[in-house]
Order: sequence, then C-alpha cells, then structure tokens
Amino acid sequence: MTEKRDYYEVLGVEKNADASELKAKYRKIALKYHPDRNPGDKEAEEKFKEAAEAYEVLSNAEKRQLYDQFGHRAFENGGGGSGGFQDFDDIFSSFGDIFEDFFGFRTGGRGGRSRARRGADLRYDLRIEFTDAAFGKETQLDLEKMVVCDECHGTGAKPGTQPQTCDQCRGTGQFVRSQGFFSVKSVCPRCRGQGTIIAEPCSKCQGQKQVVARKKVELKIPAGVDNGSRLRLAGEGEPGTNGGPSGDLYVFIHVRPHDTFERQGNDVICKVELSFVQAALGDEITVPTLTGEETLEIPGGTQYGDTIRLTNHGIPSLRNGLPGDQIVEIVLRTPKHMNKRQEELMKEYLQLESEKLTSRIKRIFTKTAGATSKSSKSSKSSKSSKAAKS
Ligand SMILES: [Zn+2]
Ligand SMILES: [Zn+2]
Repeated sequence: MTEKRDYYEVLGVEKNADASELKAKYRKIALKYHPDRNPGDKEAEEKFKEAAEAYEVLSNAEKRQLYDQFGHRAFENGGGGSGGFQDFDDIFSSFGDIFEDFFGFRTGGRGGRSRARRGADLRYDLRIEFTDAAFGKETQLDLEKMVVCDECHGTGAKPGTQPQTCDQCRGTGQFVRSQGFFSVKSVCPRCRGQGTIIAEPCSKCQGQKQVVARKKVELKIPAGVDNGSRLRLAGEGEPGTNGGPSGDLYVFIHVRPHDTFERQGNDVICKVELSFVQAALGDEITVPTLTGEETLEIPGGTQYGDTIRLTNHGIPSLRNGLPGDQIVEIVLRTPKHMNKRQEELMKEYLQLESEKLTSRIKRIFTKTAGATSKSSKSSKSSKSSKAAKS
C-alpha cells in the first residue's frame, strides 16, 4: 500500500482550519471528483475516497484530535485497512447531510441499518402534435419500469415468511471493530447493511423486492408546451429501497412541425399568398387559424412581406395562459400565364405608369407595343424561329 497522504494536505487546508473552511474545501474536491461526474475514472474515484476519508476524520473534533496527536496510526486497525470505508455507500451515508445540500439527494441516515435509497429518475421522450402542444392534451404513457414486487409487497421474502434479523449485526447493519479506545464501523458483511436476512426469497422477484413491469401513467400536457419542454411527474420514477422515496419521471416534449404554422415563442406565423392585384386593390380573404378560419381585411397597397396581426390567435403562455398572436405574412404571386386581354390591360397600365418605368422596360415596351401578344422574350424567339424557317 502506498503511503497515506496527510489529511490536511488532501483537503488543502492549514492545520488550524476551522469547520467551515474544511467543509468548503471538501465540497469543492468532492464535486470535482464525484463518481457521477467521472464515470469509470479510477484516479478520480481514489481522490474522492481520499478526500471523504480526510474530511470524515477532520470534521469530527474527537477524531481530529486523535489524528493531530497520532497521525494515521490513530486509525490503523491491524488489518492495514483505510479507516473502515468499505464502499461508496459508506461514504455517502456518513456524509449524507453534506451531499444532500449540494447534490440534492439524500442517501440515507448516518451509519444506520437498511439505508433508505431514493429510486432512479426516468426519462420518457414524447412526440406530440403541434396543436396538442398549443392547447394541451390528456394522454397516457405506457412505460416499462421497476415497480415494487406485488408478490412479496417489497419484502423480498417468500409470502408467508418474514426477513429474519441478521444474527451477526443483530439488525444494526453495522460491523463494529473496537480498537483500543475508539471503534471502527463498517457495513455488516453478512447482511450487507440491510440488518435482515431473507431465508426464503420471493419466487417472483428472487428477493430483489422489485420487478420490471409495464405501467400506464396519466399525463396532462399543459397548453403552451414547446419543443424541449420537460414535465416532471413526481414519484413516477422507480421505487426507492428500504423505505426510500421513489424517483421522478421526466417527460421530454418533442413537437411535430405543422404544415401551415410556424411557432415563434407564443406567436404563430403563417404565410398567405395573394395575387399582386389583390395586394394592390385590397381584398377580404379567409385565413386558417389554429382553431379554424378567420376573415382578414387586406388593405390596398399591401406589399410583399407585410404582416397582419390577428391578436390572441396564438398559443397560450405556459406561464400565465395569455395567448400570443397569429402573424400573417403576405407573399405576392406574379402571374406566369396571362391571356391576351390581361396582357393588353397590363400594357395599358404600363403606359400609364411610363414615367416611372426603367429604361429596360421602356425599351421592351416600345419594341413590342401593340405589335404582338407575346412577351419580349418569346417575341424574340418567335422572330428567330421565323428566320430559321425562311
Ligand atoms: Zn417479491
Ligand atoms: Zn448484518
């Protein structure tokens, strides 16, 4: 075994550091090397354990005094072990109070038996329609998860039998070794800290207390959810063990795009195509909305890209329920084919506008004016085809 580092050095504090400084330093190291943040990293795991051990000793006035007096020898117990930390569970249970306030979870009582453990949180990805996101919906999720075994009701023991109190630790779940004037506690190896032994395991869960089952969960999707919204169903995660609370179920919302509408916050945008004549003269049109249709007044002289707002026709705010607006964006359509009469009228219009025309259009206009019903381009090509014929 490599030589143990000085506990003060491990935590990076002076010999006279006070409790709050110790806690702050330990917190920093524990966060950095926490196994959840460094999965599979053995070195981080060692550092984490080392810091936990150092803090365990230095944060306890009695142990700190012993350490200051005897150094690491104070905690040697003949076997060369390192102070009674058998596994992470031990560390977590010893430091439950610290971990609770910076990781937000509780791992169980201090060194007690049958640690209460919170069940795992679950994630469910739910795809919903655009309008369901806008107006909410009640739905049912069908998920597969661990549930408390209904055969043994979570005892793990065969129905009709009871888990027996562990004879080695007498139900405390702890194994205490006395060493002179202090004692070292560790997890009872026989019952693994449970305090009880299951002689005849339940046949359905094999003593695991939980089984995998399909479960339907009711979900009320609130109006106004958007892509990436996360809904939390408290207690719908996996069950805890030894009386620990269940985890939570997180539903991640994915919204299918809509054919007509695009969402921007709580507003919805839709594009409406008008002929240039409608835009120029004004018109009354029908536009689709999220709930049906609405008559919309198009003022004369409407330009490409102009927007018209239909107030309160958007999506209700998730926060306060106030609806957004529908924004109608105008797109203009230029005719691709015109009959002779239409073209004549256009040309007449052009003539009236002639002072505003660009020189290019003027040139085209003078070339083709009154002569043909074809546009300049096709009249050119018809000329050339004539030329080819003759
Ligand atoms: Zn069972
Ligand atoms: Zn035991």
